[in-house]
Amino acid sequence: MTHHAESEGETMSKLAINGGTPVRSRPLPPNYPGALVYGKEEADFTSRVIYGQSPFRYYGPNMQSAVESLENAMTKDFDVPYALAVTSGTAALVVAMKALGIGYGDKVIIPANTFIATAGAVVCSNAVPVYCDVDDSLNIDPSDLERVYDEDVKAVIVVPILGNPVDLDPVIAFAKSKNIAVIEDMAQSCGVRYKGRYAGTIGDIGTFSFQMNKIITSGEGGAVVTRDVKLMERAIRYHDQGVLRHRARYGIDSPDEQFAFSGQNYRMSELAGAVMLEQWKKLPAIVGNMKRHHDFIAAALKAEIPGIRFRACPDPEGNIGSNLGIVFPTAEATSLFNKALNAENVQAHVLYGGKPVYMNPSLYYQRTAEKDNFPYNYPFKQPVVITEQTCPRAIDLIPRTTYIPVSPVLSNEDAADIIEAVLKVHQSLQVVV
Ligand SMILES: *Cc1c(COP(=O)(O)O)cnc(C)c1O
Repeated sequence: MTHHAESEGETMSKLAINGGTPVRSRPLPPNYPGALVYGKEEADFTSRVIYGQSPFRYYGPNMQSAVESLENAMTKDFDVPYALAVTSGTAALVVAMKALGIGYGDKVIIPANTFIATAGAVVCSNAVPVYCDVDDSLNIDPSDLERVYDEDVKAVIVVPILGNPVDLDPVIAFAKSKNIAVIEDMAQSCGVRYKGRYAGTIGDIGTFSFQMNKIITSGEGGAVVTRDVKLMERAIRYHDQGVLRHRARYGIDSPDEQFAFSGQNYRMSELAGAVMLEQWKKLPAIVGNMKRHHDFIAAALKAEIPGIRFRACPDPEGNIGSNLGIVFPTAEATSLFNKALNAENVQAHVLYGGKPVYMNPSLYYQRTAEKDNFPYNYPFKQPVVITEQTCPRAIDLIPRTTYIPVSPVLSNEDAADIIEAVLKVHQSLQVVV
Protein backbone atom coordinates (compact mmCIF):
# COMPACT_ATOMS: atom_id res chain seq x y z
CA MET A 1 0.00 0.00 0.00
CA THR A 2 2.67 2.54 0.95
CA HIS A 3 6.34 3.19 0.26
CA HIS A 4 7.95 0.68 2.66
CA ALA A 5 5.33 -1.88 3.72
CA GLU A 6 5.97 -4.45 1.00
CA SER A 7 9.77 -4.36 0.82
CA GLU A 8 10.30 -4.78 4.56
CA GLY A 9 7.81 -7.66 4.67
CA GLU A 10 7.66 -9.67 7.91
CA THR A 11 8.86 -7.10 10.49
CA MET A 12 6.52 -4.46 9.16
CA SER A 13 3.52 -6.77 9.28
CA LYS A 14 4.14 -7.92 12.87
CA LEU A 15 1.80 -5.86 15.01
CA ALA A 16 3.32 -3.45 17.49
CA ILE A 17 1.19 -4.99 20.28
CA ASN A 18 3.02 -8.27 19.50
CA GLY A 19 6.45 -6.64 19.57
CA GLY A 20 6.61 -5.53 15.92
CA THR A 21 7.74 -2.13 14.71
CA PRO A 22 4.91 0.44 14.94
CA VAL A 23 3.82 2.09 11.68
CA ARG A 24 4.68 5.43 13.24
CA SER A 25 7.49 6.14 15.65
CA ARG A 26 5.64 9.15 17.07
CA PRO A 27 1.96 9.80 17.84
CA LEU A 28 -0.21 11.85 15.50
CA PRO A 29 -1.12 15.44 16.48
CA PRO A 30 -3.39 15.49 19.57
CA ASN A 31 -7.13 15.93 19.06
CA TYR A 32 -7.42 19.69 19.62
CA PRO A 33 -8.22 21.00 16.12
CA GLY A 34 -8.58 24.72 16.88
CA ALA A 35 -5.82 25.00 19.48
CA LEU A 36 -3.29 23.38 17.14
CA VAL A 37 -3.70 26.25 14.68
CA TYR A 38 -3.30 28.97 17.32
CA GLY A 39 -0.83 31.58 16.16
CA LYS A 40 -0.01 35.25 15.84
CA GLU A 41 -3.62 36.17 15.01
CA GLU A 42 -5.03 34.97 18.35
CA ALA A 43 -2.01 36.36 20.23
CA ASP A 44 -2.28 39.80 18.59
CA PHE A 45 -5.99 40.27 19.16
CA THR A 46 -5.83 39.13 22.80
CA SER A 47 -2.93 41.47 23.40
CA ARG A 48 -4.97 44.36 21.95
CA VAL A 49 -7.64 43.52 24.54
CA ILE A 50 -5.00 43.44 27.29
CA TYR A 51 -3.36 46.73 26.25
CA GLY A 52 -6.80 48.24 25.76
CA GLN A 53 -7.47 47.38 29.42
CA SER A 54 -10.98 46.31 28.44
CA PRO A 55 -11.63 42.63 29.12
CA PHE A 56 -15.42 43.04 29.56
CA ARG A 57 -17.74 43.04 26.56
CA TYR A 58 -20.08 45.83 27.65
CA TYR A 59 -17.68 48.56 28.86
CA GLY A 60 -14.05 49.56 29.25
CA PRO A 61 -11.65 52.44 28.59
CA ASN A 62 -10.58 51.20 25.15
CA MET A 63 -13.07 48.59 24.01
CA GLN A 64 -12.04 46.21 21.22
CA SER A 65 -15.58 44.78 20.73
CA ALA A 66 -14.18 41.30 20.22
CA VAL A 67 -17.28 39.40 21.39
CA GLU A 68 -19.57 41.59 19.29
CA SER A 69 -17.31 41.05 16.26
CA LEU A 70 -17.45 37.30 16.83
CA GLU A 71 -21.25 37.41 16.93
CA ASN A 72 -21.33 39.52 13.76
CA ALA A 73 -18.98 37.11 11.97
CA MET A 74 -21.14 34.17 13.01
CA THR A 75 -24.38 35.76 11.78
CA LYS A 76 -22.78 36.79 8.49
CA ASP A 77 -21.09 33.46 7.69
CA PHE A 78 -24.00 31.34 8.93
CA ASP A 79 -26.54 33.59 7.20
CA VAL A 80 -28.62 33.76 10.37
CA PRO A 81 -29.91 36.98 11.99
CA TYR A 82 -28.87 36.40 15.62
CA ALA A 83 -25.87 34.99 17.47
CA LEU A 84 -25.01 35.33 21.15
CA ALA A 85 -21.64 34.33 22.60
CA VAL A 86 -21.71 32.68 26.04
CA THR A 87 -19.29 31.01 28.43
CA SER A 88 -19.64 27.35 27.43
CA GLY A 89 -21.57 24.84 25.37
CA THR A 90 -23.44 23.81 28.51
CA ALA A 91 -24.37 27.45 29.19
CA ALA A 92 -25.52 27.74 25.56
CA LEU A 93 -27.88 24.78 26.02
CA VAL A 94 -29.30 26.19 29.26
CA VAL A 95 -29.75 29.62 27.63
CA ALA A 96 -31.47 27.96 24.65
CA MET A 97 -33.91 26.09 26.88
CA LYS A 98 -34.65 29.16 28.99
CA ALA A 99 -35.21 31.17 25.79
CA LEU A 100 -37.76 28.53 24.76
CA GLY A 101 -39.44 28.73 28.15
CA ILE A 102 -38.60 25.14 29.08
CA GLY A 103 -38.49 24.30 32.79
CA TYR A 104 -40.05 22.43 35.70
CA GLY A 105 -42.65 19.91 34.61
CA ASP A 106 -41.24 19.60 31.08
CA LYS A 107 -39.44 16.72 29.40
CA VAL A 108 -36.81 17.14 26.71
CA ILE A 109 -35.87 14.37 24.27
CA ILE A 110 -32.14 13.84 23.83
CA PRO A 111 -30.24 11.13 21.92
CA ALA A 112 -28.82 8.14 23.81
CA ASN A 113 -25.41 8.81 22.23
CA THR A 114 -24.20 12.16 23.52
CA PHE A 115 -21.88 13.77 26.02
CA ILE A 116 -23.26 14.00 29.57
CA ALA A 117 -23.50 17.82 29.23
CA THR A 118 -26.54 17.57 26.94
CA ALA A 119 -28.46 15.77 29.68
CA GLY A 120 -26.96 17.90 32.45
CA ALA A 121 -28.09 21.09 30.73
CA VAL A 122 -31.66 19.77 30.58
CA VAL A 123 -31.58 19.03 34.31
CA CYS A 124 -29.99 22.44 35.03
CA SER A 125 -32.89 23.98 33.11
CA ASN A 126 -35.23 22.21 35.58
CA ALA A 127 -36.57 19.79 32.98
CA VAL A 128 -36.14 16.01 32.75
CA PRO A 129 -34.30 14.28 29.88
CA VAL A 130 -35.87 11.33 28.06
CA TYR A 131 -33.78 9.23 25.72
CA CYS A 132 -34.23 8.51 22.03
CA ASP A 133 -32.33 5.68 20.35
CA VAL A 134 -29.73 6.06 17.59
CA ASP A 135 -29.65 4.70 14.05
CA ASP A 136 -26.65 3.59 11.96
CA SER A 137 -25.39 7.17 11.90
CA LEU A 138 -24.92 6.90 15.70
CA ASN A 139 -27.01 10.09 15.85
CA ILE A 140 -30.65 10.35 16.90
CA ASP A 141 -33.04 7.94 15.14
CA PRO A 142 -35.98 10.04 13.92
CA SER A 143 -38.18 6.94 13.74
CA ASP A 144 -37.81 6.40 17.51
CA LEU A 145 -39.13 9.86 18.46
CA GLU A 146 -42.76 8.76 18.60
CA ARG A 147 -41.92 6.09 21.23
CA VAL A 148 -40.33 8.69 23.52
CA TYR A 149 -42.85 11.45 23.02
CA ASP A 150 -45.65 12.34 25.43
CA GLU A 151 -47.52 15.56 26.15
CA ASP A 152 -44.89 16.77 28.66
CA VAL A 153 -42.16 16.81 25.99
CA LYS A 154 -41.42 20.40 24.93
CA ALA A 155 -38.31 20.02 22.79
CA VAL A 156 -35.93 17.61 21.14
CA ILE A 157 -32.18 18.22 21.24
CA VAL A 158 -30.32 16.72 18.29
CA VAL A 159 -26.56 16.18 18.58
CA PRO A 160 -24.41 15.64 15.50
CA ILE A 161 -21.75 13.45 17.13
CA LEU A 162 -18.15 14.08 16.04
CA GLY A 163 -18.76 16.03 12.85
CA ASN A 164 -21.43 13.84 11.22
CA PRO A 165 -24.72 15.66 10.45
CA VAL A 166 -28.09 14.63 11.89
CA ASP A 167 -30.87 13.73 9.45
CA LEU A 168 -32.81 16.86 10.36
CA ASP A 169 -35.75 16.80 7.94
CA PRO A 170 -37.66 13.97 9.65
CA VAL A 171 -36.84 15.38 13.11
CA ILE A 172 -38.18 18.80 12.15
CA ALA A 173 -41.28 17.25 10.55
CA PHE A 174 -41.93 15.30 13.77
CA ALA A 175 -41.38 18.39 15.94
CA LYS A 176 -43.78 20.44 13.79
CA SER A 177 -46.43 17.73 14.06
CA LYS A 178 -46.21 17.87 17.88
CA ASN A 179 -45.58 21.61 18.14
CA ILE A 180 -42.30 21.15 20.02
CA ALA A 181 -38.96 22.91 19.51
CA VAL A 182 -35.78 21.58 17.90
CA ILE A 183 -32.48 22.49 19.54
CA GLU A 184 -29.29 21.63 17.64
CA ASP A 185 -26.43 20.87 20.05
CA MET A 186 -23.53 21.62 17.69
CA ALA A 187 -20.84 21.35 20.39
CA GLN A 188 -18.79 18.74 18.51
CA SER A 189 -19.66 19.79 14.99
CA CYS A 190 -19.12 23.49 14.29
CA GLY A 191 -19.15 23.90 10.49
CA VAL A 192 -21.31 20.84 9.73
CA ARG A 193 -23.90 21.34 6.99
CA TYR A 194 -27.12 19.57 6.16
CA LYS A 195 -28.49 19.79 2.64
CA GLY A 196 -26.35 22.84 1.95
CA ARG A 197 -27.27 24.83 5.08
CA TYR A 198 -25.19 25.24 8.22
CA ALA A 199 -26.41 22.91 10.93
CA GLY A 200 -27.25 24.92 14.04
CA THR A 201 -29.26 27.40 11.95
CA ILE A 202 -31.94 24.94 10.82
CA GLY A 203 -33.82 24.09 14.03
CA ASP A 204 -35.34 26.70 16.35
CA ILE A 205 -32.06 27.36 18.11
CA GLY A 206 -28.49 26.08 17.73
CA THR A 207 -25.82 25.86 20.44
CA PHE A 208 -22.03 25.68 20.08
CA SER A 209 -19.11 24.88 22.37
CA PHE A 210 -15.66 26.41 22.12
CA GLN A 211 -14.07 24.14 24.74
CA MET A 212 -10.60 22.88 23.83
CA ASN A 213 -11.69 19.43 22.61
CA LYS A 214 -14.16 20.89 20.08
CA ILE A 215 -13.52 22.17 16.55
CA ILE A 216 -12.52 25.76 17.32
CA THR A 217 -11.67 26.93 20.82
CA SER A 218 -10.96 29.62 23.37
CA GLY A 219 -10.40 27.00 26.06
CA GLU A 220 -13.95 27.56 27.27
CA GLY A 221 -16.76 29.30 25.42
CA GLY A 222 -19.97 28.80 23.54
CA ALA A 223 -22.66 30.45 21.45
CA VAL A 224 -26.35 30.38 20.64
CA VAL A 225 -27.79 31.16 17.19
CA THR A 226 -31.42 31.63 16.15
CA ARG A 227 -33.64 33.23 13.52
CA ASP A 228 -36.28 34.25 16.08
CA VAL A 229 -35.97 37.69 17.66
CA LYS A 230 -38.15 36.69 20.64
CA LEU A 231 -35.88 33.73 21.41
CA MET A 232 -32.87 36.02 21.02
CA GLU A 233 -34.28 38.58 23.44
CA ARG A 234 -34.92 35.89 26.06
CA ALA A 235 -31.49 34.36 25.44
CA ILE A 236 -29.72 37.71 25.92
CA ARG A 237 -31.68 38.33 29.12
CA TYR A 238 -31.05 34.90 30.57
CA HIS A 239 -27.31 35.10 29.87
CA ASP A 240 -26.99 38.58 31.43
CA GLN A 241 -28.91 38.68 34.75
CA GLY A 242 -32.24 39.27 33.01
CA VAL A 243 -31.02 42.55 31.49
CA LEU A 244 -31.35 43.50 27.83
CA ARG A 245 -28.38 45.68 26.94
CA HIS A 246 -27.69 47.07 23.47
CA ARG A 247 -31.28 46.42 22.48
CA ALA A 248 -31.05 48.69 19.42
CA ARG A 249 -28.50 46.30 17.92
CA TYR A 250 -31.18 43.63 17.80
CA GLY A 251 -33.93 45.94 16.58
CA ILE A 252 -35.76 45.66 19.91
CA ASP A 253 -36.87 49.22 20.69
CA SER A 254 -39.35 49.13 23.54
CA PRO A 255 -39.24 45.89 25.47
CA ASP A 256 -41.75 45.66 28.26
CA GLU A 257 -39.64 45.39 31.41
CA GLN A 258 -42.71 44.11 33.24
CA PHE A 259 -41.95 40.78 31.57
CA ALA A 260 -38.26 40.73 32.51
CA PHE A 261 -37.11 37.64 34.42
CA SER A 262 -34.14 36.67 36.55
CA GLY A 263 -31.14 35.34 34.70
CA GLN A 264 -27.61 34.10 35.19
CA ASN A 265 -24.19 35.36 34.17
CA TYR A 266 -23.06 33.47 31.08
CA ARG A 267 -21.35 36.44 29.36
CA MET A 268 -18.27 35.76 27.27
CA SER A 269 -15.15 37.75 28.19
CA GLU A 270 -13.36 39.87 25.61
CA LEU A 271 -10.26 37.67 25.96
CA ALA A 272 -12.25 34.61 24.88
CA GLY A 273 -13.98 36.70 22.20
CA ALA A 274 -10.64 37.85 20.74
CA VAL A 275 -9.36 34.29 20.47
CA MET A 276 -12.68 33.11 19.07
CA LEU A 277 -12.93 35.74 16.33
CA GLU A 278 -9.54 34.63 14.99
CA GLN A 279 -10.50 30.97 15.37
CA TRP A 280 -13.74 31.65 13.54
CA LYS A 281 -11.79 33.03 10.56
CA LYS A 282 -9.76 29.80 10.50
CA LEU A 283 -12.80 27.51 10.56
CA PRO A 284 -13.08 27.06 6.75
CA ALA A 285 -9.41 26.02 6.50
CA ILE A 286 -9.72 23.67 9.51
CA VAL A 287 -12.83 22.01 8.06
CA GLY A 288 -11.34 21.87 4.55
CA ASN A 289 -8.21 20.06 5.77
CA MET A 290 -10.08 17.61 7.98
CA LYS A 291 -12.57 16.79 5.27
CA ARG A 292 -9.92 16.32 2.58
CA HIS A 293 -7.92 13.87 4.72
CA HIS A 294 -11.06 12.12 6.03
CA ASP A 295 -12.45 11.48 2.55
CA PHE A 296 -9.04 10.35 1.26
CA ILE A 297 -8.53 7.90 4.16
CA ALA A 298 -12.10 6.57 3.89
CA ALA A 299 -11.81 5.99 0.11
CA ALA A 300 -8.44 4.24 0.45
CA LEU A 301 -9.73 1.94 3.20
CA LYS A 302 -12.88 1.15 1.23
CA ALA A 303 -10.77 0.22 -1.80
CA GLU A 304 -8.55 -2.13 0.23
CA ILE A 305 -11.24 -3.54 2.56
CA PRO A 306 -14.47 -3.65 0.53
CA GLY A 307 -16.50 -4.98 3.49
CA ILE A 308 -15.46 -2.20 5.88
CA ARG A 309 -18.46 -0.57 7.51
CA PHE A 310 -18.31 3.14 8.18
CA ARG A 311 -20.72 4.98 10.40
CA ALA A 312 -23.69 6.00 8.22
CA CYS A 313 -24.01 9.64 7.17
CA PRO A 314 -27.24 11.29 5.97
CA ASP A 315 -25.31 13.94 4.01
CA PRO A 316 -21.64 13.13 3.30
CA GLU A 317 -21.12 16.58 1.74
CA GLY A 318 -21.95 18.20 5.06
CA ASN A 319 -19.69 15.97 7.17
CA ILE A 320 -16.70 18.02 8.42
CA GLY A 321 -14.52 14.90 8.62
CA SER A 322 -13.19 15.52 12.13
CA ASN A 323 -13.42 11.78 12.84
CA LEU A 324 -13.67 8.59 10.83
CA GLY A 325 -16.21 6.24 12.43
CA ILE A 326 -15.84 2.50 11.80
CA VAL A 327 -18.44 -0.01 13.00
CA PHE A 328 -17.15 -3.50 13.90
CA PRO A 329 -19.13 -6.72 14.25
CA THR A 330 -18.60 -6.92 18.04
CA ALA A 331 -17.49 -4.81 21.00
CA GLU A 332 -14.62 -7.29 21.59
CA ALA A 333 -13.34 -6.83 18.02
CA THR A 334 -13.54 -3.06 18.47
CA SER A 335 -11.54 -3.11 21.66
CA LEU A 336 -8.90 -5.41 20.12
CA PHE A 337 -8.66 -3.19 17.03
CA ASN A 338 -8.24 -0.05 19.16
CA LYS A 339 -5.48 -1.60 21.27
CA ALA A 340 -3.61 -2.80 18.19
CA LEU A 341 -4.02 0.50 16.32
CA ASN A 342 -2.98 2.58 19.31
CA ALA A 343 0.19 0.50 19.58
CA GLU A 344 0.95 1.51 15.98
CA ASN A 345 0.80 5.12 17.23
CA VAL A 346 -2.53 5.84 15.55
CA GLN A 347 -5.27 6.75 17.99
CA ALA A 348 -8.76 5.24 17.90
CA HIS A 349 -11.38 5.16 20.63
CA VAL A 350 -14.98 4.34 21.38
CA LEU A 351 -17.06 7.16 22.84
CA TYR A 352 -18.27 7.56 26.42
CA GLY A 353 -16.90 4.30 27.76
CA GLY A 354 -18.98 2.46 25.16
CA LYS A 355 -22.26 3.32 26.89
CA PRO A 356 -25.38 5.39 26.25
CA VAL A 357 -25.43 8.66 28.17
CA TYR A 358 -28.26 7.46 30.45
CA MET A 359 -25.96 4.78 31.93
CA ASN A 360 -24.12 7.55 33.80
CA PRO A 361 -25.18 6.99 37.44
CA SER A 362 -26.46 10.56 37.94
CA LEU A 363 -28.81 10.12 34.96
CA TYR A 364 -29.61 6.45 35.45
CA TYR A 365 -30.66 7.02 39.07
CA GLN A 366 -32.05 10.48 38.22
CA ARG A 367 -30.28 12.34 41.00
CA THR A 368 -29.58 16.02 41.50
CA ALA A 369 -27.84 18.01 44.22
CA GLU A 370 -31.20 19.22 45.59
CA LYS A 371 -32.64 17.95 48.89
CA ASP A 372 -35.99 17.07 47.30
CA ASN A 373 -34.33 15.82 44.09
CA PHE A 374 -35.81 18.71 42.12
CA PRO A 375 -36.56 18.66 39.14
CA TYR A 376 -36.91 14.86 38.95
CA ASN A 377 -39.54 15.06 41.71
CA TYR A 378 -42.17 16.43 39.30
CA PRO A 379 -45.28 14.19 39.35
CA PHE A 380 -45.32 13.35 35.64
CA LYS A 381 -48.41 11.48 34.43
CA GLN A 382 -45.99 9.13 32.69
CA PRO A 383 -42.98 8.78 35.00
CA VAL A 384 -39.57 8.55 33.33
CA VAL A 385 -38.31 4.98 33.77
CA ILE A 386 -34.78 4.13 32.68
CA THR A 387 -33.36 0.66 32.22
CA GLU A 388 -30.20 -0.45 30.44
CA GLN A 389 -32.33 -1.50 27.45
CA THR A 390 -34.13 1.85 27.14
CA CYS A 391 -32.24 2.36 23.85
CA PRO A 392 -31.17 -1.11 22.65
CA ARG A 393 -29.47 0.01 19.45
CA ALA A 394 -27.33 2.49 21.37
CA ILE A 395 -26.37 -0.30 23.79
CA ASP A 396 -25.43 -2.42 20.77
CA LEU A 397 -23.74 0.16 18.49
CA ILE A 398 -21.84 2.54 20.80
CA PRO A 399 -19.33 -0.06 22.09
CA ARG A 400 -18.62 -1.39 18.60
CA THR A 401 -18.08 1.94 16.86
CA THR A 402 -14.57 3.34 16.91
CA TYR A 403 -13.50 6.83 15.94
CA ILE A 404 -10.17 7.79 14.39
CA PRO A 405 -9.63 11.54 14.87
CA VAL A 406 -8.62 13.40 11.71
CA SER A 407 -6.58 16.46 12.64
CA PRO A 408 -6.59 19.62 10.50
CA VAL A 409 -2.79 19.67 10.76
CA LEU A 410 -2.18 16.18 9.33
CA SER A 411 0.39 15.93 6.57
CA ASN A 412 -0.26 13.67 3.59
CA GLU A 413 2.31 11.27 5.13
CA ASP A 414 0.32 11.23 8.39
CA ALA A 415 -2.84 10.36 6.46
CA ALA A 416 -0.95 7.59 4.63
CA ASP A 417 0.24 6.27 8.01
CA ILE A 418 -3.35 6.08 9.28
CA ILE A 419 -4.31 4.04 6.21
CA GLU A 420 -1.26 1.81 6.53
CA ALA A 421 -1.87 1.19 10.24
CA VAL A 422 -5.54 0.27 9.75
CA LEU A 423 -4.66 -2.11 6.90
CA LYS A 424 -1.85 -3.67 8.91
CA VAL A 425 -4.10 -4.28 11.91
CA HIS A 426 -6.87 -5.57 9.66
CA GLN A 427 -4.55 -8.00 7.87
CA SER A 428 -3.39 -9.50 11.17
CA LEU A 429 -6.60 -9.50 13.15
CA GLN A 430 -9.31 -9.63 10.44
CA VAL A 431 -11.64 -7.83 12.86
CA VAL A 432 -12.82 -5.09 10.54
CA VAL A 433 -15.42 -7.25 8.77
C1 LIG B 1 -18.74 19.35 24.94
C2 LIG B 1 -20.18 19.19 24.74
C3 LIG B 1 -21.10 20.00 25.41
C4 LIG B 1 -20.71 20.97 26.47
O1 LIG B 1 -19.83 21.96 26.05
P1 LIG B 1 -18.93 22.72 27.16
O2 LIG B 1 -18.41 23.89 26.41
O3 LIG B 1 -17.87 21.76 27.59
O4 LIG B 1 -19.84 23.11 28.27
C5 LIG B 1 -22.45 19.83 25.14
N1 LIG B 1 -22.87 18.91 24.27
C6 LIG B 1 -22.01 18.10 23.62
C7 LIG B 1 -22.56 17.10 22.65
C8 LIG B 1 -20.64 18.20 23.85
O5 LIG B 1 -19.79 17.38 23.21
